[in-house]
Amino acid sequence: MTEIRGEGIQADTLEIKQLRIGHHDYKVIQKDGLKNEDKHDMYGQIDYDTKEIELNKEYTQNEQVMQNVLIHEVVHGLFHESALFDEAHNEELVERLSNTLHGFLKDNIDVLNAVYGSDEEIIEVRGYDGKLISKERVIH
Ligand SMILES: [Zn+2]
Repeated sequence: MTEIRGEGIQADTLEIKQLRIGHHDYKVIQKDGLKNEDKHDMYGQIDYDTKEIELNKEYTQNEQVMQNVLIHEVVHGLFHESALFDEAHNEELVERLSNTLHGFLKDNIDVLNAVYGSDEEIIEVRGYDGKLISKERVIH
């Protein structure tokens, strides 16, 4: 099991550490040879108990596929964390919604970044003794 470290998603290296769904942080792990109980290859899976999303390394080297698989597992998680347990297990519903959501995110990511993202930075000025002199919020 290989844990990919990094903050957020970096498209070029596909580095993801964790994602917050509802009140929980889900660890995102890229794994070799991810198989279900029937020994069939899986693209990804989410474990609501251990709060882990596993992505099959073999298939998720491709950025588009990785995004799609990730969003698919996230949609499972969104339903689960919303206590919509039947929906969380409804594969067709999850598949349809995740395809639409994947497209929505792709098509609107810049707008969403502007709405939800923040380029603000906290600048702290400290004295020689480490004491805080001033704290400022700067928005770039
Ligand atoms: Zn699924």
